[in-house]
Amino acid sequence: MSEAAVSMLRPSTRRHVDGSTCTEGTRRLPPGFEPCCAEFAQHTAACVFDVRYEWWASAKAWFIALSDMAGGGGVQIRHCPHCGTDLKTLAK
Ligand SMILES: [Zn+2]
Ligand SMILES: [Zn+2]
Repeated sequence: MSEAAVSMLRPSTRRHVDGSTCTEGTRRLPPGFEPCCAEFAQHTAACVFDVRYEWWASAKAWFIALSDMAGGGGVQIRHCPHCGTDLKTLAK
């Protein structure tokens, strides 16, 4: 993924109709993160109402973040759902 494409994903302060902060445009990434593919990179900046991937430093693992309306929390993923890369290799 190119630098230009990354910079297009601006931070957002949008809110949902229920008042919760929209996470679209924000990211939770491990240090030295290098996306395995453009699809994965795109979903790291997505809204929880879309499919959003987050790095949870406390668990040292990747999760699909769930909206509070879906119960909150996340579902751990070990491989990229798009290209199958072992996600451990994305953190340095
Ligand atoms: Zn949102
Ligand atoms: Zn991938």
